[in-house]
Amino acid sequence: MTPICTRCDRAIGDGQAYDVHLRHSASGAGCTVYTHQLCPPRTAAEAAARAEYDGASNALVDHVENCVCCDISHIDCSRRRELKKVWRAARRADTAARQTAR
Ligand SMILES: [Zn+2]
Ligand SMILES: [Zn+2]
Repeated sequence: MTPICTRCDRAIGDGQAYDVHLRHSASGAGCTVYTHQLCPPRTAAEAAARAEYDGASNALVDHVENCVCCDISHIDCSRRRELKKVWRAARRADTAARQTAR
């Protein structure tokens, strides 16, 4: 049986990370519900925002892994600060896109 995500009402496909929650009801019969750890995008706008966010995340991780200054000292270099700003904006846009699609 394919679990259905209670957050987005869609099937949780193979390889998609999900959480299992046990719900207890007053009547005594508990039930198990599933949610995607990250629901897949539903609209083109949502997909675009997600791609942007993924790109910004990768750029930031890439930088931290390859930047000498970020590696040695844990002080943000100017490039990292810049990337972080882009990442934060992308994260906000991603969250906003998901909320408007609802
Ligand atoms: Zn979902
Ligand atoms: Zn750096």
